[in-house]
Amino acid sequence: MKLILLGPPGAGKGTQAKMLVEEFSIPQISTGDILRAAVKDGTPMGKKAKEYMNTGGLVPDEVVVGIVRDRLQEEDCNNGFILDGFPRTVAQADALQASLQEMSKELDRVISLEVDAEALVERLTGRRTCKECGRGYHVKFDPPREAGICDVCGGTLFQRDDDQEETIRKRLQVYSEQTAPLISYYREAGVLMELDGMQPIPIVKEKILSLLQAS
Ligand code: ADP
Ligand code: AMP
Repeated sequence: MKLILLGPPGAGKGTQAKMLVEEFSIPQISTGDILRAAVKDGTPMGKKAKEYMNTGGLVPDEVVVGIVRDRLQEEDCNNGFILDGFPRTVAQADALQASLQEMSKELDRVISLEVDAEALVERLTGRRTCKECGRGYHVKFDPPREAGICDVCGGTLFQRDDDQEETIRKRLQVYSEQTAPLISYYREAGVLMELDGMQPIPIVKEKILSLLQAS
């Protein structure tokens, strides 16, 4: 299963990707997670990416394209992968296509999660993430049993720096200008499945699974 989860920030890509990892035993490739790890480790790439990420802009295409090209060649991607947060521009989508072609691979599906702008702001301002295992939560829609503590590993939950309202609005604008054109890009390629992402997390999961099984 070679899958892209497409959608604006806060649509639920990471939440659903983590469930699909369990279901299909294939890796989640989140460019956001890879970039955040690089920023935390202070690598040259992290230093370059930090400014773009903090202000809600996109990291330059050549940086993220290189990350994904290398990651797709790792052995755990042989049976498939779930791309989450990549591609985000038409140039990235073209580069992905070229990388897959080089590896004689083809995308199976692109699932586009559709969520209203105001709901996205509420989701992102309430998002919390475990420092240790990366599990995501929401203070209202998916709260941990104990506030601030991860149910899975007991780690501390934190709020991402870019999940502040002003940066969120910028990210949503960047999404509509630079990423939303990928919906018609993949529709024309015949691989797009559109899904109502406004429903509760378990229902979105069931819908994704039934879409994938039907195809
Ligand atoms: P993305 O990876 O697309 O940016 P996330 O998966 O991190 O988005 O979800 C953003 C926030 O919204 C998280 O706090 C998550 O718990 C919450 N969330 C995800 N899916 C839903 C949903 N279907 N309904 C309500 N909240 C959701
Ligand atoms: P995310 O975790 O997907 O919300 O991404 C967080 C931030 O990382 C984004 O706002 C961008 O600054 C950067 N980023 C993640 N993925 C990409 C990508 N494919 N292209 C450019 N920038 C990205």
